[in-house]
Amino acid sequence: MYTVTDPATGQLIEEIENATDAEVREAIERVGNGYRRWRDRPVAERAAIVARAADLFEERADELAAVMTLEMGKRINEGRGEVGIVVDIFRYYAERGPDLIADQPLAIRGGSAVIRKEPIGALLGVMPWNFPCYQVARFVAPNLVLGNTILLKHASICPRSALAIEKILHEAGVPDDAYANVFASSRQVPMILADPRIQGVSLTGSEKAGISVAAEAGRNLKRCVLELGGSDPLLVLDTADLDETVRTVATARMRNCGQSCNAPKRIIVQSDLYEEFVDRFTKRVADYYVPGDPSDPSVKLPPLASVAAADEVAGQVARAVEQGATLRTGGRRGEAAYLEATVLTDVTPEMDAYREEIFGPVAILFRAESDDHAIEIANDSPFGLGAAVFGTDPARLRRAADRLEAGMVYFNKSGGSQADLPFGGIKRSGMGRELGPSGIEEFMNQKSIRL
Ligand code: NAP
Repeated sequence: MYTVTDPATGQLIEEIENATDAEVREAIERVGNGYRRWRDRPVAERAAIVARAADLFEERADELAAVMTLEMGKRINEGRGEVGIVVDIFRYYAERGPDLIADQPLAIRGGSAVIRKEPIGALLGVMPWNFPCYQVARFVAPNLVLGNTILLKHASICPRSALAIEKILHEAGVPDDAYANVFASSRQVPMILADPRIQGVSLTGSEKAGISVAAEAGRNLKRCVLELGGSDPLLVLDTADLDETVRTVATARMRNCGQSCNAPKRIIVQSDLYEEFVDRFTKRVADYYVPGDPSDPSVKLPPLASVAAADEVAGQVARAVEQGATLRTGGRRGEAAYLEATVLTDVTPEMDAYREEIFGPVAILFRAESDDHAIEIANDSPFGLGAAVFGTDPARLRRAADRLEAGMVYFNKSGGSQADLPFGGIKRSGMGRELGPSGIEEFMNQKSIRL
């Protein structure tokens, strides 16, 4: 069942039945049959349609933001910001896409060749609820420009976002056999991947879903991109302005109510700054991130996306405390899906919280005795999505970046995403890249033509 439940009140707003197997098969057939028609249209036409989609997203930013606030509790201003990034992604691929997929001449021994960049077919996208528009955009925009067609299974708590996105794409001129939303259940995903018309799958979501989708993709020899969880480290090596650093780090951790894959979930602070950092950070979190109605632009901490998500995170916090962590602030569940912004310290490798992803407004602070120690803590994780290093000496930041086991490293900034910068992780954070030039290559046939 796809459901809309307001996480701020717990009120059930709408239920939508899952698609039947016959409806799923019909949708596969549609995008499977539509593939050659879409592929054969000139790239300039596909790019122009993607550019129109950018304009429509921009026009409907308020409407989309309101849908996200209702479905998953996103702060209304953050929703508008998310749509801004979506617009940027669609424009980036509309403008740069044709060049990124142009023929690439290659001098080879004894002659010459060309690498022709072609699409591969119909693809399945399986998307999460935390950024309902952005996650879809970074998969869909490059693949539509390239010429692949798309079947999209969105998170079951975001059906209205799924329909609003589909409407925009169709109004922009994407034919309904080049992009189709399907209210499939996760149990129907293996059936979709087994269909010969589907050539690949991109999943953004949890490790558990990633394991299952990767196994099905493997069984069916389908290409697979996985954007999974993270427990990103943020290293504070030194600072010229402690208050400013505290504010920036707290903002990064609490963005989207802490439900960002690449939020800094482990904040590792040099020991000479540690006590002061913990005090000021805890105060900032307790005073500034006061829970409230997500549709009120002045509110800083919305509910989590669902009651289940809030219960899970509250349970992780309680377990950490039982296992010996220190609760500096927060930790209490409120009404519906609310949870106080929380700060934990004294988390040790024996505790679950040391290794697991905490997908909510919970910061864990660690003390590091040296740069080496900070990097050791940072790399002691099953995940490897992003990492951030804060400090004043560029050479020191670069040395740290060289040694961090992560798909992305940011200096004096954390999290976030931009259209022209590849995004993705290593280790249990997944495989493959989205965005930037890499994002259009994942489901591409780089055909070698020997001239
Ligand atoms: P989730 O439960 O894994 O759900 C994500 C999507 O996968 C949903 O559409 C879900 O469908 C589907 N799904 C779940 N289990 C599946 C299965 N066994 N087979 C096929 N599909 C399945 O993840 P979430 O809780 O929505 O999202 C939070 C997670 O996503 C966090 O771990 C976060 O770090 C990660 N994430 C990663 C990135 C990145 O770029 N690396 C970005 C954002 C989020 P239903 O809704 O129907 O269950």
